[in-house]
Amino acid sequence: MKRIAVLGSTGSIGTQALEIINSRDDLQAVGLAVGQSWREGVLQARGTGAQYLAVADPEAAAEAASEFEGVVLSGEPAARELIGACEPDLVLNGMVGAAGLGPSIAALTAGIDLALANKESLVIGGDLIMELAKATGSQLLPVDSEHSAIFQLLSGESADAVDRIVLTASGGPFRGRTELDGITVEEALDHPTWAMGGRITIDSATLMNKGFEMIEAHYLFDLPYDQIDVVVHPQSIVHSLIDLRDGATLAHLGYPDMRVPIGFALGYPVRIELPVERLNLARVGSLDFEEPDPDTFHCLTLAREAGLAGGISPCVLNAADEIAVAAFLEGRIEFNAIAEVIERALNDVGSGPARDFRELFAVDEATRERSEELVSGLEAK
Ligand code: MG
Repeated sequence: MKRIAVLGSTGSIGTQALEIINSRDDLQAVGLAVGQSWREGVLQARGTGAQYLAVADPEAAAEAASEFEGVVLSGEPAARELIGACEPDLVLNGMVGAAGLGPSIAALTAGIDLALANKESLVIGGDLIMELAKATGSQLLPVDSEHSAIFQLLSGESADAVDRIVLTASGGPFRGRTELDGITVEEALDHPTWAMGGRITIDSATLMNKGFEMIEAHYLFDLPYDQIDVVVHPQSIVHSLIDLRDGATLAHLGYPDMRVPIGFALGYPVRIELPVERLNLARVGSLDFEEPDPDTFHCLTLAREAGLAGGISPCVLNAADEIAVAAFLEGRIEFNAIAEVIERALNDVGSGPARDFRELFAVDEATRERSEELVSGLEAK
């Protein structure tokens, strides 16, 4: 029996993970963490038999505590405390944004295996997170579809046999456009192939999501940026590829369905049976590939530069993006201004080494403040 804590259980990754867990006798959810949606959290905990529920919002936690027969943990550190309280074998971190970093650190510090859907943990704290996992012997299992694909493709290959990894990108709703003026929130939220949460959908439209994924891949697979490429593939059937030194290229294919990477991480090292549609290539017909356009999709360029700079720069990149995307979703700034806010925040906050997590949290906060000012400045125009 594998005991699992699901953080972000009411989100897109969390709900799909619970479906898989509930369908199997060898997986058991022991703790759930939610932000504000305490009602759904309580229902999920009852449905899955989890005894512990962490609710980040204190008022929502108080409501949950009056309803739920198990243990309710409250406040911002609740997701971290949950890990100590329910002693899982595996933590699935499906939280959104920088808030997921603390729980990732808690899981790895305790030597617990971590299925990571919260890409910010690696974007912000990459070096430190990988060092920590190595020190405690925790297994880090990527849940992002591309990184899960590469993780699977790399298994059994020696590091020096790998020439290059190639992340596929759907290109988002604005693929092929050479200007991004006047884009509405509805247009940006209309992702062609993947159904996901609001922020990641906007990040997919700007290609920042792919930029984050390059940074994530750099740390996860310990590869320099010149060995990490991106190719646009609108059908999202090929989830990523690796090039090997003998000229072979391996690819991971399937219909876009997050249950595959989630199930892989939950079952690891056992590949569990999943009720997903089997790929029929004859029905797919053709697969298209094209170069990304880093001039139009400036966020991709900003991400690569921040990745190359390393240290605190990816942390600044992420925090500025979180603020800029939220401002766009609230109708406060233009779609094009997302990249502008991020670029200016990177310049204003500056670069430098990231010595410890405390420093990163401070940089994260300072960047948010600066980015809010930049958003206000653009709003006033
Ligand atoms: Mg992805």
